[in-house]
Amino acid sequence: MRLILLGPPGAGKGTQAKILLDAYSIPQLSTGDILRAAIAARTPMGLEAKAIMDRGDLVSDTVVNAIVSERLDAPDCANGFILDGFPRTIAQAEALDAMLTDKGLALDAVIEIRADEDTLVQRVLNRAKETGGARADDNEDVIRKRLGVYRELTAPLVAYYEAQGLLKSVDGMSPVAQVSADIRAALAE
Ligand code: AMP
Repeated sequence: MRLILLGPPGAGKGTQAKILLDAYSIPQLSTGDILRAAIAARTPMGLEAKAIMDRGDLVSDTVVNAIVSERLDAPDCANGFILDGFPRTIAQAEALDAMLTDKGLALDAVIEIRADEDTLVQRVLNRAKETGGARADDNEDVIRKRLGVYRELTAPLVAYYEAQGLLKSVDGMSPVAQVSADIRAALAE
């Protein structure tokens, strides 16, 4: 199963990816997690990405495309993967299409997790409280910025994948268990 989870920050992509990886025994590929690990390890890529992420902007397509291309070649992706937080721009989606074609692979579905913006701001602020502010980008100004970036650069992917016949949408405002049941049902269609 080769999936993309698409949705604004705080919609529950990470939570749902973790549930799906248990159900389908395929890895979660989160470009955000990979970038945060690079920051923690103080690699040159991490140092370059940190300021961009802290202010809620997107890291360059070149950097994230390279991360994903390398990650897709790892043995644990042989039976599939769940992309969480990638692609985030049309250019990234086109790069992913090219990568998959190159590797002789195809996507099975793109799951859009729809969510209401005001609820998302509240969720991200709650996450900041629960984690003691572990993520520098979990504060109100930055979350509003990230939602704006989502609307402008990432939301057009909904139409992009709809045109490919891959899009399935679920309501991300339902309880976590309901959202995952809706995703399983959409995948079984
Ligand atoms: P996330 O953990 O998915 O919310 O990502 C946190 C931050 O990492 C984003 O706000 C971006 O700065 C950066 N990032 C993660 N994935 C991507 C991507 N596919 N393209 C560009 N920037 C990304």
